[in-house]
Amino acid sequence: MLNKKILDKFRVTPGKKFKLKSIDPGWRGDKEIRGLSDTELKQSAEKVLLQNLQELADQQAKLYADDRWSVLVVLQAMDAAGKDGMVKHVTAGLNPQGCDVYSFKAPSAEELDHSYLWRIMRVSPARGKITIFNRSHYEEVLVVKVHPEYLKKQKLPAPLVTKKIWEERYEDINNFEKHMARNGTIILKFFLHVSRDEQKKRFLERLENPDKHWKFSAQDLNERQYWNDYMRAYEEGLEATSTKWAPWYVIPADNKAVARVLVSNILTRAMEELKLQFPTVTTEEKLALEEAHKRLVSE
Ligand code: ATP
Ligand code: MG
Repeated sequence: MLNKKILDKFRVTPGKKFKLKSIDPGWRGDKEIRGLSDTELKQSAEKVLLQNLQELADQQAKLYADDRWSVLVVLQAMDAAGKDGMVKHVTAGLNPQGCDVYSFKAPSAEELDHSYLWRIMRVSPARGKITIFNRSHYEEVLVVKVHPEYLKKQKLPAPLVTKKIWEERYEDINNFEKHMARNGTIILKFFLHVSRDEQKKRFLERLENPDKHWKFSAQDLNERQYWNDYMRAYEEGLEATSTKWAPWYVIPADNKAVARVLVSNILTRAMEELKLQFPTVTTEEKLALEEAHKRLVSE
């Protein structure tokens, strides 16, 4: 487990100015591991990841049994930053019955006929569950902000579309998340922060390796042209929506193993803070259990 001080470095402080520049996508550990080679770092990160996943599985079992709290993990990132791999690794040790994953694509006609939070609310986590959002309602202040033509498709009444729309969306998102938090949902939001150079490397890998061709989409290359606009939208969005009840973490993502350790660690720690216990039974229920035990033994 990494200590809290390290993890806090990646948290966007609520109510403070935030500069994306303050987090290096290539970060690969503090001074104690800075001397490690890539292979050594990967091995060491994988070991810590396994420990985190074991701990996470224990916490999940309690979350499920307790059946009161729920956990929402939001993943946002540029293409090829490793969202899919993150989902795969973080959920690896979980009980599938207590975990849901949703990927949000461009909204359907039916979705566009509702408020943008409609599709989000419908799949928000049930009590006892961990839900992971692969993209989320934040697309509404990211891709839509970068491409205002998407806003036009949303069928909003004209008087409601003003210059203030993004501020209003931040406010609505914060209020929505506060509502969820007040009803027992722990919300953790991760921006997997990959550098432009690393994205290029990963796109090239997808183009050069036939097994990865299916992962490449020409659309991803188009979006890359808007890199600076996206970074500005992330910076503004994260600053406006990192709250006490739903903080953002900016995760250095040029090294996948490092990113996975950080996310699993932050998630596990947040669940530990709930101090979950398996539910205990009343004296009456205990007597009934003893009775059942006697009956079975004497069969
Ligand atoms: P992968 O490429 O790894 O399969 P992905 O999340 O990039 O994963 P795609 O189907 O390639 O999946 O892309 C989904 C697209 O939908 C993204 O470009 C995203 O910006 C877009 N999208 C998601 N939500 C919205 C939204 N509310 N409005 C407009 N576009 C959205
Ligand atoms: Mg994609």
